[in-house]
Amino acid sequence: MTVARYLFSRSEKKILEQFAKRRTLIAFDFDGTLSRIEKKPDQVTVDPAVAALLKRLEELTPVAVVSGRNRGNLARVLSSRPDYLIGNHGLESPGASPALVKRAASTCRSWMRQLVPVVKGLPGVELEDKRYSLSIHYRRSPKSRLRAKFEILAVCEKLQPRPHLILGKAVVNVIPQGSPGKGKALLALMRKEGFTHAIYIGDDDTDEDVFTLKEARSAKPRILGIRVGRRAESSARYFILRQSQINRVLSELVRLSHQR
Ligand SMILES: [Mg+2]
Repeated sequence: MTVARYLFSRSEKKILEQFAKRRTLIAFDFDGTLSRIEKKPDQVTVDPAVAALLKRLEELTPVAVVSGRNRGNLARVLSSRPDYLIGNHGLESPGASPALVKRAASTCRSWMRQLVPVVKGLPGVELEDKRYSLSIHYRRSPKSRLRAKFEILAVCEKLQPRPHLILGKAVVNVIPQGSPGKGKALLALMRKEGFTHAIYIGDDDTDEDVFTLKEARSAKPRILGIRVGRRAESSARYFILRQSQINRVLSELVRLSHQR
């Protein structure tokens, strides 16, 4: 485990600049990164200052948003139009084959049939059908977070076929096996569009998928992984302190892209 460095410390001043000089894709997670986490995921909005900076950045350089949300939903919550939207933890991306996507949709339909009756009995728990993956939210459960999480995990244990589960902030992501994940999806997009480098910013366990890529962990990384919020167990090389610092990251990237 390497110790993550603070992106805005004096000694790290040049790192964004070094990346911005290359043929670099700038990629963001959405919830908890571009937006604050809200009690109801469908009521999320992007702060106007963040939206304006993001729009400006999109005018200057290629931008991607990589999310667990489905792509249609992502397009609705964003006021601007990034060049690339990757949805459903990578299932909506160049990294997923049409056969895989079709299978994921049919698996999710089957899981919905299994889950709907059970989740009805769990107060405050919301099941979100994203077509190619599911999210089970427990932010509004009256029970303790830990208790709610364990109840949901116990339910997911029984699902057929067995899902790949990724825990997030008050959410259990239920993903079909064999899904590319954010890491492989980002790499596939970079290859397809000819980006040699990427900057990736995310706040949650699903983003570790990018932070743990060898392209992000090697001595000369091609992917600059930045975590929102410091966490000892994260594989991200860099961190910012809190979500509100995304404004500073965006301003800095706008300035650097403008210079170039
Ligand atoms: Mg997030």
